[in-house]
Amino acid sequence: MKKRVFVFLFAGFIFTTLAGAQSLQFKYTVIPETPRPGEPVTIGINGTARQAVLRANERQLARGLFFSVPVQDGEQGFMAAVLTIPSTANPGEAVIRLENETGVIVEIPLTIAGREFDADIIDLNPTLTGIRTEPSPQRTAEANRLAAILNRTGSEIYHTGNFIPPVTSTRRTSFFGSRRVYRYSGGGTDTAIHAGVDYGVPTGTQVLACGSGKVVLATMRIVTGNSVILEHAPGIYSLYYHLDTINVQEDMIVTAGTLLGTSGSTGLATGPHLHWEIQINAENTDPDAFVARPIIDKDAILTKISIYRRAYYKTGVIMEEPQAF
Ligand SMILES: [Zn+2]
Repeated sequence: MKKRVFVFLFAGFIFTTLAGAQSLQFKYTVIPETPRPGEPVTIGINGTARQAVLRANERQLARGLFFSVPVQDGEQGFMAAVLTIPSTANPGEAVIRLENETGVIVEIPLTIAGREFDADIIDLNPTLTGIRTEPSPQRTAEANRLAAILNRTGSEIYHTGNFIPPVTSTRRTSFFGSRRVYRYSGGGTDTAIHAGVDYGVPTGTQVLACGSGKVVLATMRIVTGNSVILEHAPGIYSLYYHLDTINVQEDMIVTAGTLLGTSGSTGLATGPHLHWEIQINAENTDPDAFVARPIIDKDAILTKISIYRRAYYKTGVIMEEPQAF
């Protein structure tokens, strides 16, 4: 009798040990698997890491800091990072290096897909030429403040789901990543890459928050006119430019669909339009990407990195069974 109990306990000990060992295995997932230039990549892990660094040809192209993602009762917590493939990245082989304080945890191979971008030629009148070319301490100060905001990685998570487009119109007059040539009124040209999308909407069109967030800038700027910037998650921002009116103040917390203001043609604009932009760790990001998919797809990530079958959590019954897929 005693012997049988011992065997039973021993079997239980072996099983528990195996399950424990399984939970120590470092797991990760990368969404999407083959991103295009300008698209964001979400990395989910079941352990801890400080940052994810995108590298190609021995060079660092982008990075994202890991943050803890809130979970519901009974769910396994995890960490996630988001980084953007720069729109100037070459197609081909790259790696995402996951790092902690002591070094590299793992290198994840990644293929960057090819992508074509539009070309725009924009003729500027003397006034608009002046906005771009005349030295201006105020313009420089505004640029420095903008850079400081976009390079800041906060800790608050306001939004992890999909974004909604900021206007109902689908009429676009300029696309993300288009390679631009500005032709100045007095001769001469300059080049730039369009950081967002332009909606050709009449002055006075309602502009809505694309997701929940905090208003971190709501002010008039020389180049971008009346401008609003929202912070959605650590390092993730949405920007709304050339507004006619601003309806929010800095430090306000807004939800998706909140009226931020109305569209216009303030600042460097050749006509009424809304410029909508997404910045992730100070990298121009295709705004359509997080309309099509959530910033953090918890189900997709947990399915890949959880050591337990996801279904058991959903029914509220946690089974001590290692994941078999
Ligand atoms: Zn624009």
